[in-house]
Amino acid sequence: MEIDFELVLEGISLGLDVVILGFLYKSYESCTAYIQALKEAEQVEISQLSQLSAPKSRHRSWFQWSRTKSSSAATEGPNECRYVCLRGIVEPVDKSRLLKSGDLKSTGVIHKIITKEVATVRNGSRFWVDEERIVKNIQHEIPWGLKSQEPQKTNKQPLVQVIEGLSADRIDMSIVRDEFTPAAFSLSGWFGGWVAGVQLKGTQEIEEMVIDGSLMTAVGELVINGDGTMQLRSPSNSDRALPFILSTLPYSALLSTYETLVSVCKWSLFFFGGVGMVLGSLMIRKWFKIRYGRRHAREEDDILRDLCESRRSTEENDDLPDWQRCVVCLVRNREVIVLPCGHVCLCADCMMLINNQHVLQRNCPMCRQRIEQIARAFVP
Ligand SMILES: [Zn+2]
Ligand SMILES: [Zn+2]
Repeated sequence: MEIDFELVLEGISLGLDVVILGFLYKSYESCTAYIQALKEAEQVEISQLSQLSAPKSRHRSWFQWSRTKSSSAATEGPNECRYVCLRGIVEPVDKSRLLKSGDLKSTGVIHKIITKEVATVRNGSRFWVDEERIVKNIQHEIPWGLKSQEPQKTNKQPLVQVIEGLSADRIDMSIVRDEFTPAAFSLSGWFGGWVAGVQLKGTQEIEEMVIDGSLMTAVGELVINGDGTMQLRSPSNSDRALPFILSTLPYSALLSTYETLVSVCKWSLFFFGGVGMVLGSLMIRKWFKIRYGRRHAREEDDILRDLCESRRSTEENDDLPDWQRCVVCLVRNREVIVLPCGHVCLCADCMMLINNQHVLQRNCPMCRQRIEQIARAFVP
């Protein structure tokens, strides 16, 4: 069976389109989930939380808190948790344990060093492409939390401790160092790399930090313990998958970022969906055409075979005028009319040769127009 390369190419494009669509849909879904979660999250002030957590007035405040905010009465108690959004200043629990960046200029509570190897690699289709490989990923986190932005009168500032910030679904960190070290060049190394298909370009080291004293928005599950300590953690225990977000952006900017992403995803979905539909319909059309063409070709083969056989029984005419000879072989009689152009220019044998070509690539030898159909011609 012949393979139509255009059809194969269209198939590959359609497959790629479907992969892109799937990826876009997934991003769209997760962004909408984030928006919904952000809108659901209660906006709380850390300074106001302190009243609730103060042991003295705990009882009454808890009662008020539950009455005004909680819809499910069953979850009352010292360990009640709820999904909140709060903004405050990053503060370590123990100042002496602050993490330092490599250049000792910045200090923070979360420190991450990612080392990447950058290389150009010869891939399967013999092209050289850039590739990155993470070779080292060092992460450190010390106990830290967020304190209120407003200065407090009391000595002891309330602190909402952030539990396992590194595990957050989104964490915005400041880049304190981004260094690229090119690989040392040697001719033998270069040649070996060329043979092996990998040329090391160098290593890139990126150092990121959550800097203490910076402002941060945290969205997660808030737990107020009986002893007045407050913790913010990943809401993974709840039945719904709510995201745990640590961002330097304020709430409104965070929300609008996701809203922009959603609209970008939506329009891209429309675009790639449209492309997929056009490709799909083109492929279906072509497929039908080929199928129809093949069936047709079989019927035509019968006509041509008939013509050949009937001719062989009659004597070949040497003094045939030129205008009656087939334009391809210049020997036999013109026996076939090709449609839609209507040229009578071929003998049955030559028409058979043309028929052996691809169904969609049969052209009239006189005018190059595509041959849709053929019929027996009667030349007097
Ligand atoms: Zn011929
Ligand atoms: Zn023609």
